[in-house]
Amino acid sequence: MKIAVVKETAPGETRVAATPETVKKFIALGAEVAVEARAGQSASISDKDFEAAGASVAPRETVLAGADAILCINGPDAASLKGVKPGALLVGALDPTRRTDAIDGYAKAGLQALAMEWMPRITRAQSMDILSSQSNLAGYKAVVDGAAAYGRAFPMMMTAAGTISAARVFVMGVGVAGLQAIATARRLGAQVSATDVRSATKEQIQSLGAKPIFVENVAGIEGEGAGGYATEMSEEYQKAQAELVSSHIAKQDLVITTALIPGRPAPRLISDAQLASMRQGSVVVDLAADAGGNVEGCAAGENVQRHGVTIIGASNLSRTLAADSSALFARNLYNFLSAFWDKDQSRPVFPDDDEIVKGIRLTQGGKIVSERLAGSAS
Ligand code: NAD
Repeated sequence: MKIAVVKETAPGETRVAATPETVKKFIALGAEVAVEARAGQSASISDKDFEAAGASVAPRETVLAGADAILCINGPDAASLKGVKPGALLVGALDPTRRTDAIDGYAKAGLQALAMEWMPRITRAQSMDILSSQSNLAGYKAVVDGAAAYGRAFPMMMTAAGTISAARVFVMGVGVAGLQAIATARRLGAQVSATDVRSATKEQIQSLGAKPIFVENVAGIEGEGAGGYATEMSEEYQKAQAELVSSHIAKQDLVITTALIPGRPAPRLISDAQLASMRQGSVVVDLAADAGGNVEGCAAGENVQRHGVTIIGASNLSRTLAADSSALFARNLYNFLSAFWDKDQSRPVFPDDDEIVKGIRLTQGGKIVSERLAGSAS
């Protein structure tokens, strides 16, 4: 089994889909690993590091020739995979709903494309979940970036010249990123509060030493909901939430918003009028910027000033921690492939009826086979 690791070509991408650690692990399973030259450059991994781990390093064409599996962060253009062996696996964040032409191209090339972002949210798949591993880092970085843009200190400080009070941080949306944001802000000494529509998060917020701020008079989502994800809330809930946020937000120094609804634009959580109620110099970091934003006036990838408040439209924050995000992404890929590894055949074997395989397999045998993509067959 030859595993190829390609250099990413998407603008701004810094990550790489394998590390010396995962290369060694694949070799221990009996695989051969070939890495495209300079693939790890932006993640502080040199070609020499990959070679020392046992990989061969070569230009793209050589790496792809005869490959049985291609590991990537972002799905490459189908044209750039010309000459790849039919039946080869393509594993990474393939963005199936937006890149339908590329997925079609993978089918036509006879590849078995596996979209890691569609990993089902089940216990068995936790170690393979790229959305979680990258969100975790994004939650941390949102606080670090927010703190850097905030012109005051975070912890309470008692100095000879007087006392500085602790910053107040409010986290809206307590999924993977939100929980890490709470933990990071607490470590920096802030007074933290948080909110979500899922009642199950209340206890999680408290367990991290933060204060839950919840709509109490209108029903939210009880328990974990389908796959743990939120759904769009009723108008009545949205109104009650807006009132609650209005009274709370005016007292906050840093607000981190992370609220997402799968398949829908991000819910609007902070209006321009609410921003105007915040004190000068406050900061809002919108982690949902790429999905349309939780904050009115937010622009993905930009810092915007409104009413003296800085709105950071956080885009792909995990890329700014390239070494760590690559390490976790690479482990997710290794955990996935090794879980299906057949020792006798020295390659992964994917049962058609497996919940993970059914969830993430997009193409096979020249066709689109994903139920989720049904209707866009090649
Ligand atoms: P997400 O990125 O989809 O959304 C972020 C958060 O925003 C969620 O907590 C959501 O409830 C919240 N939200 C949505 N609309 C909101 C609104 N109007 N107001 C306030 N908050 C709102 O979430 P996520 O990080 O993907 O996590 C979702 C759940 O899935 C969590 O319970 C997580 O623990 C679970 N999970 C399970 C697995 C697994 O078992 N393999 C893996 C990852 C996550």
